[in-house]
Amino acid sequence: MSDKSHAAMCVYCGEAVIYDTREISDMETAHQKIVEHDQSCPSNPLVQRVAELEETARLAERFARAKGRHHSQQAACDLMEHFGLPCVRPG
Ligand SMILES: [Zn+2]
Repeated sequence: MSDKSHAAMCVYCGEAVIYDTREISDMETAHQKIVEHDQSCPSNPLVQRVAELEETARLAERFARAKGRHHSQQAACDLMEHFGLPCVRPG
């Protein structure tokens, strides 16, 4: 590898984010690309955790906003099943 060729490898998925600094003269842009990949890498456990928490928040909000007994029970079941809990849905 020459001094102008650098591969910034993602620590989570191993993907090389930047292959060659000759193509990216601005290091700030290079760092930004690395951070962008890191924040969206599907192998990043934090990205997975955020997605899981967003789904929990979505289901909790839907439950909180559910109107009527039937929709409330369905939303409660969606939330319970999200946490791996059994739930008997209304008929
Ligand atoms: Zn990655």
